Amino acid sequence: MKLQTRKSVIRLTVLVTLFVQVMATLLVLLVFPIGMWRYQITFVTVATLLLCTPVAFVLVDKIRQNAQLSAELRRLLNRDRLSGAASRDYFFEYMAENPGLEGVVLMVDVDHFKRINDTHGHLVGDEVIRSVSAALRQAVRDDDIVCRFGGEEFVVFLRANAAEDGYAVAERARRYIASICIPEHELQVTASIGVARKSQADIIDHVIHRADEALYTAKSDGRDRTVLAIETAQPADDVAA
Ligand code: GH3
Ligand code: MG
Ligand code: MG
Repeated sequence: MKLQTRKSVIRLTVLVTLFVQVMATLLVLLVFPIGMWRYQITFVTVATLLLCTPVAFVLVDKIRQNAQLSAELRRLLNRDRLSGAASRDYFFEYMAENPGLEGVVLMVDVDHFKRINDTHGHLVGDEVIRSVSAALRQAVRDDDIVCRFGGEEFVVFLRANAAEDGYAVAERARRYIASICIPEHELQVTASIGVARKSQADIIDHVIHRADEALYTAKSDGRDRTVLAIETAQPADDVAA
């Protein structure tokens, strides 16, 4: 039973009270002679209602509050507060739990972001980060993961089989990012993207490294572009391990 509402708390309180009542009645039947049953059962019924019901209600409600708090805590840990994207911790936890996942990793970095901060201020910079996060989420499917990796850098995990599919999504994301508009500020946002495929055997850190290298190439080739990483075999020491 999920304890999310007052109704479910009341329902569980009634169940606990009934259980205690049945147990107490059985005890009376076992311990007391037949002549005392009526009196004793009346006594345990009144005692259960007066004592057990409020205590059970308070305890069950406390359990509901704790469950709500831990769900809220989990949500805060899993989400980046500024952008609403998944947190880095969530991303790596998810990848550690699903090591054999196949897909495509996009490494996305906003171009000349420092300049945006310096020219328009940090609050506008924050707004750009939020908008880039929204553009990325708009460009991918619901079951893909958009994670704020740090600063103005995002990692996206796509459930795609071919790197070329990932490339197409990256280009769509880049178009959405290029159309970002911050009211009352004249600024053009662009991003560079590195794309690398993750096979079942690939370790996520290596794939991120390859996507990062492709991103570096995109930056040095002039920014505002997507570069596909060269497919490489996993390093020999990891294959052996
Ligand atoms: P490049 O095109 O090579 O990526 O250049 P860049 O200016 O984007 O890269 P650089 O790493 O030099 O600058 C990133 C800046 O992002 C520096 C840092 O102050 C800023 N930054 C990091 N986190 C935040 C944040 O949460 N909010 C804002 N507004 N700025 C941030
Ligand atoms: Mg940057
Ligand atoms: Mg950066």
